Amino acid sequence: MYDHPGVKTSSDYPVPETMRAWVLGDPDELTLSSKPVPVPARAEILVRIDAVAICATDLEIIHYGSPAKIEGGAPFNKNFTPGHEYMGTVVALGPGVDEFDIGQRVTVEIHAGCGQCKRCRQGMYTACLNYGLNYGDVDKGHRANGFTTDGGFAEYAVNNINTVIKVPDTMSDEEATLVVTAGTSMYGLTELGGLVAGESVVVMGPGPIGLLAVAVAKALGADPVILTGTRDSRLAIGKELGADHVINVRNEDSVKIVKDLTGIGADYIVECAGTESTINDAAHMVNRGGKICLAAFPHEPVLVDLPEIVRNNVYVYGIRGEGRSATHRAMAFMAAKRFDATKIHTHTFALDDLPTALKYARERIEDAIKVVVTAKRESGIQAAAE
Ligand SMILES: [Zn+2]
Ligand SMILES: [Zn+2]
Repeated sequence: MYDHPGVKTSSDYPVPETMRAWVLGDPDELTLSSKPVPVPARAEILVRIDAVAICATDLEIIHYGSPAKIEGGAPFNKNFTPGHEYMGTVVALGPGVDEFDIGQRVTVEIHAGCGQCKRCRQGMYTACLNYGLNYGDVDKGHRANGFTTDGGFAEYAVNNINTVIKVPDTMSDEEATLVVTAGTSMYGLTELGGLVAGESVVVMGPGPIGLLAVAVAKALGADPVILTGTRDSRLAIGKELGADHVINVRNEDSVKIVKDLTGIGADYIVECAGTESTINDAAHMVNRGGKICLAAFPHEPVLVDLPEIVRNNVYVYGIRGEGRSATHRAMAFMAAKRFDATKIHTHTFALDDLPTALKYARERIEDAIKVVVTAKRESGIQAAAE
């Protein structure tokens, strides 16, 4: 029986001692294994995972290892469970926790910084200086679930209470998994200054973060919101999420169109494509003194027109994920139905079918955008009985 000193549980939500969890072996090798259910420490809770969305970064981690970092190195063959965009139900409280109740539905953000370094003290916990130092003699308590600690392709996970957000009853499990993606988009706009009402915003790249950046920018009052990309089907979803203009860069000159639409270039660019040409287009379509947020990971170093950036006093910000509690602000918009994030959710699979779900996400089978994996407990039983 799951029984640990100082940890509160409830007979309404019994917790087993072991759980099913996908474990990363060699690159691209995932195995469904049995692991002990983790135990929440002080300021932590145990979440029963009800749904988890697949992110492009999961595909990177499973194939390349980076940006995950386990015990100071690559995450392969270290009994590591990836997955970071999950939601679920609180089933155990660590010692001293009274911020949440057992049975509460919650969604999560990824990073809990160490709380003691300079960046954490500045509120920049996604840039924690003790990133990944959570093992051995130098354990600083840093957590980035699915990156430096076990993540969500499992039945249970531990979260610091600072990384947990309550989910309203009106929101589905699948939608709640999208809050961290919307939070990343929100953080991009936060780093750019956040005051985007009435300002022009260009979002480049209609992937999940880009599409939700359109929605968040629009909800924050940006005007106009312009989306660029190469696939008309994705650009159409961007329009539904609030883009005033969409530009297909395959057959249109995005720099010229942005300059025509804004007169002087855009105030803010959120670059979610991560290619040399899109980064340079960003440098050429932003106005003097404007700001560019780089929210995609290019695979290789890229050649950038730096003189253009310097001459025009352009500010450039890199972000690696959500931060500054932006996920909480994104949830406020989603709970108020200011935009419909479910427009990017395309497929759902059971946890046991994770390899198929990853294949759909990787190969964009049937135009997959966000693929969600669910525990399918009660609903699965009901479906079987019908
Ligand atoms: Zn992600
Ligand atoms: Zn820190």
